[in-house]
Amino acid sequence: MPGGAISILGLRKDYDGVTAVDGIDLEIGAGEFFTLLGPSGCGKTTTLRMLGGFEQPTGGQILLDGVDVAPKPPHKRPVNTVFQSYALFPHLDVQKNVAYGLRWRKDLDGATRDARVAKALELVRLADYAQRRPHQLSGGQQQRVALARALVLEPSVLLLDEPLGALDAKLRHSLRAELSALQREVGITFVFVTHDQEEALEMSTRLAVMERGRVVQLGTPQEVYREPSTEFVADFLGVANLLDVACTPGDAGTRTVQYGEFTLQAQVPAGAGPAARRAVIRPECVEVQEAGLTGSNRIPGMVDRQVFLGSTTQLAVRLPHGDVLQSLVTNTGRGASPASGEPVTVHLPPESLRVLAASESSEAAAAPQP
Ligand code: ATP
Repeated sequence: MPGGAISILGLRKDYDGVTAVDGIDLEIGAGEFFTLLGPSGCGKTTTLRMLGGFEQPTGGQILLDGVDVAPKPPHKRPVNTVFQSYALFPHLDVQKNVAYGLRWRKDLDGATRDARVAKALELVRLADYAQRRPHQLSGGQQQRVALARALVLEPSVLLLDEPLGALDAKLRHSLRAELSALQREVGITFVFVTHDQEEALEMSTRLAVMERGRVVQLGTPQEVYREPSTEFVADFLGVANLLDVACTPGDAGTRTVQYGEFTLQAQVPAGAGPAARRAVIRPECVEVQEAGLTGSNRIPGMVDRQVFLGSTTQLAVRLPHGDVLQSLVTNTGRGASPASGEPVTVHLPPESLRVLAASESSEAAAAPQP
């Protein structure tokens, strides 16, 4: 069963007049929990369906452990898929639903089949539910049967298309941890599709953020969240405070940027380019301090709104130019958060303030005209 390394090279899919996948290159390592994350219509499912063999690419290649999978139909690939709608057979019990996954495997004798089904049910912690019918199970348990049905084939790669999408919020939360644990236990490659950034951040070893058929950023959850390369990624992965800045030319690293009359130190990544005009800082990095403080990366402000959320308090602070910054303060019980209308100082630590790469359209606008 080991293996499961995937190389995706220049993959594209065009439907009549619609480019669903626009030239994707990805290397997914064996044993990774890899997520394709992006908004509806960005091409995640189409990419997954091409990996599974349910769609033929218009161009490019998919290699599995170095072998081109193009000539192989879905059931001949060492890949299995779990869909959002798990479509269990209502008239078959759990055991038979899972055994159904082995219908193509004429080479396995009865005892081997039974052992494989028992192992798959053990993995998803449903060994005691083998004789139940789907309608006697909760939504989460039904999804675990669908997982067992896919795992019983012992694939090298498991494709998961929004598998938690049909479940309520609480169940989704508990199943996230279960799915991560299951992936570590079976050790095979998981390629997971979701539009839920929390899900992607919690479970993935690495993730690819997709926009309009392309991969716009690739990295670990920490990298993509803390160092978003574009405004789209910053915005898609949680709350992002965006500031209009003027970026002085220079090397990548900590550099001076101008925010109105305020001179700030910020991180400027190598790919930011001359047209970069926006900087991002996450709410949990914005420090709200007492009024009147001056010094590096400090701006005066006024609390617009204070929302108590239990473990944290959300502050909206209006800056001199009218921008409103969100700050998230952990409630430790020591000292009260400033109230609405109170003047404060906002500190934007230079290591947390990042200039974003300009979009293609703003690069074009900034380019010198011939
Ligand atoms: P969602 O999260 O809503 O499932 P997605 O990111 O998975 O979205 P895809 O389903 O891959 O997106 O679709 C990408 C684009 O391709 C969309 O614009 C969609 O309308 C289009 N598309 C997908 N399947 C077809 C098809 N069979 N015929 C024509 N267009 C299609």
